[in-house]
Amino acid sequence: MTEAKLPGKENFSEWYHELLKSGEIIDVRYPVKGMCVWYPFGFALRRNVYDLMRELLDPDHQETQFPLLIPETEFMKEAEHIKGFEDEVYWVTHGGTSPLDIKLALRPTSETAIYPIFKLWVRSHADLPLKIYQIVNTFRYETKHTRPLIRLREITSFKEAHTVHASWEEAAEQVEAALTIYAEFYRRLAIPFLFARRPSWDKFPGSDYSIALDTVMPDGRTLQIGTAHLLGTNFATTYGITFENEAGEQEFANQTCYGVSERCIAALISVHGDDRGLVLPWSVAPVQVVIVPILFKDKERTLEVSREIKAKLAEAGTRVAIDESDERPGAKFYKWEMKGVPIRIEIGPRDIEKGVAVLARRDGKKLTVPLDGLLSSIQAEAADLTEAMLTKAQAFLASKVKDCETVEEAREQTAAGVARVGWCGSEECGHWIEDEVGAAVLGEPWRSAEKHERSCIVCGAKTERCALLARQY
Ligand code: ZN
Repeated sequence: MTEAKLPGKENFSEWYHELLKSGEIIDVRYPVKGMCVWYPFGFALRRNVYDLMRELLDPDHQETQFPLLIPETEFMKEAEHIKGFEDEVYWVTHGGTSPLDIKLALRPTSETAIYPIFKLWVRSHADLPLKIYQIVNTFRYETKHTRPLIRLREITSFKEAHTVHASWEEAAEQVEAALTIYAEFYRRLAIPFLFARRPSWDKFPGSDYSIALDTVMPDGRTLQIGTAHLLGTNFATTYGITFENEAGEQEFANQTCYGVSERCIAALISVHGDDRGLVLPWSVAPVQVVIVPILFKDKERTLEVSREIKAKLAEAGTRVAIDESDERPGAKFYKWEMKGVPIRIEIGPRDIEKGVAVLARRDGKKLTVPLDGLLSSIQAEAADLTEAMLTKAQAFLASKVKDCETVEEAREQTAAGVARVGWCGSEECGHWIEDEVGAAVLGEPWRSAEKHERSCIVCGAKTERCALLARQY
């Protein structure tokens, strides 16, 4: 065997980098730090993931696209927002050799590109609600250690939605609607997560509040994989987004924005992958089924039957490949396992005689099924496999979250997981926790039914509130 072996998943960082290469997701050799190239296979995965996002957004949103460049004059209007991003902005200062009159920012996010136009689009209550999204690249001059798909200077696939509403309450409802969409998105990717209301010092610059989705990576650190922000009238006031209400008066509009980046793919790879490579859910796998004909006698007949199966599956809308190469079956299995293909069909002359095929699932389960009704067997196994992936991932996440009573315990827990501690909610106690535990306050659990009395881990005050603590990517 000459195949390169992946490092074990317990060496998460090495494993992750090697898998991005061996799985042909991302090439990191582009000569600008923090900017990566999608391999065609990785891009096919990206396309399927974002098609799923579009499928969930399109019934209630309209897709659009705004320019990459933002004039300094617009960018600098919202004070808190600038403070949040000024250290990370790339500036275009020249057109050819001539200095520009007004510098242009490469969008680090698009509020300041979109909202001056919203001012023109929103005139009356009849224009509301307005709900748009775009899937674009954004640029941030990251000074921290960059990591492919996780911390990039060019975020290649930022899905950002922006909505405008008549009232604060309607905007708050939209935040919940966005969270429900994201929950469904991640359910279909079989990725479990925690909802947290970010603490005041970590909310989106210029928002009233921010709710985030965090998943737990194999090494116990958390990865933020989505956020939704209630902007209230903060940006509307700055950009003059007003509408005529039913009484004929001008009012400032209320807004929200919410986003998911290619970190969803980092999570997909990290949560499900194993020592043999990618493990992709059926919903987004670029190849859902691979047929490996076992060729030792009756080669022609075996190939003919295999091709017939392929045609039938393709006709039913399955993304299917057939491996007719001369490699040994073992080498073929290895190659397609690395690519995360959910189901492999093995078929040889003896199977054909008996009218059966072997289905091998990416999770190791193997079964023999009749060729009659092969499609429905595959569909049933695909659904079961997705459930099994979600159950396994949920069990892992649950094992990584623990209630802690003392700072010592929380420190130990956050070395490789998430700690839940009593927190009175004060900024002072929050900062103290971050300093003493050496982990970030992700915030208070959101949409969590579980409530009981605790004591603030810092000041001892009785409270029903609590904080999730973790080391973050
Ligand atoms: Zn306290």
